[in-house]
Amino acid sequence: MSETIKLDGLVFEVRRSLRRKTLGLTVNRTSELVLHAPDDVPTDELERWTRGKLLWVHRKLLLKDEATPKVHSPEYVNGESFSYLGRWYRLSLVNEQSEPLRFDGTRFILRRDAVAAESHFRAWYISTGSKWLKNRVTILSRRVNYEPSRIEVRDLGYRWGSCGKNGVLFFNWKLLQLPVRVIDYVILHELVHLIEAHHQPAFWQALERALPDWQARKIELENKVKDFIVFGLAL
Ligand SMILES: [Zn+2]
Repeated sequence: MSETIKLDGLVFEVRRSLRRKTLGLTVNRTSELVLHAPDDVPTDELERWTRGKLLWVHRKLLLKDEATPKVHSPEYVNGESFSYLGRWYRLSLVNEQSEPLRFDGTRFILRRDAVAAESHFRAWYISTGSKWLKNRVTILSRRVNYEPSRIEVRDLGYRWGSCGKNGVLFFNWKLLQLPVRVIDYVILHELVHLIEAHHQPAFWQALERALPDWQARKIELENKVKDFIVFGLAL
């Protein structure tokens, strides 16, 4: 059981470290509150210090809550829209069709009795999107003079992309809902990780050479995602 402090209705997880000299507080991705402390700071001193930070914590939590896209789950009804590469396509339900889900270039067509509709969409995004992404990665890899050994499109939890071992790049199938210029940022971000496996200045400099307006695209990725997603990331 980890050490925690409860204050003002909030729970702070205490992480002590021998190397740490000062107190620190972080609000992480899932709004968990973590207190970083030197090994020997007594609990009452930790509480006193944390109390002084409560206003900041509440403000931070509020901002986080507002920034989290409120994704509603798809209902799979006639006329509902789904985005692929930043373009919206309507859904039509039909009574008879050999495959559960099909895309005819202008709309998605789902058999009315298809169960687990999301799994059919997921399968479609993965199979259609893998081919598209493979091609896009090949084109963009020329900018870094480096190619991944292979790419894989799958569920990636809360991440859009990741750089694995042995030069493998992973992309979240949900990324394929977004506009191409934003997907390009994620692809180049991961491609640069093949060379610079960190987020030190050398990484951002290499990214800047490959994609001079990366900052604008990164902001788009952070702010405009909610305009394009039906299938949200697992937060
Ligand atoms: Zn990164």
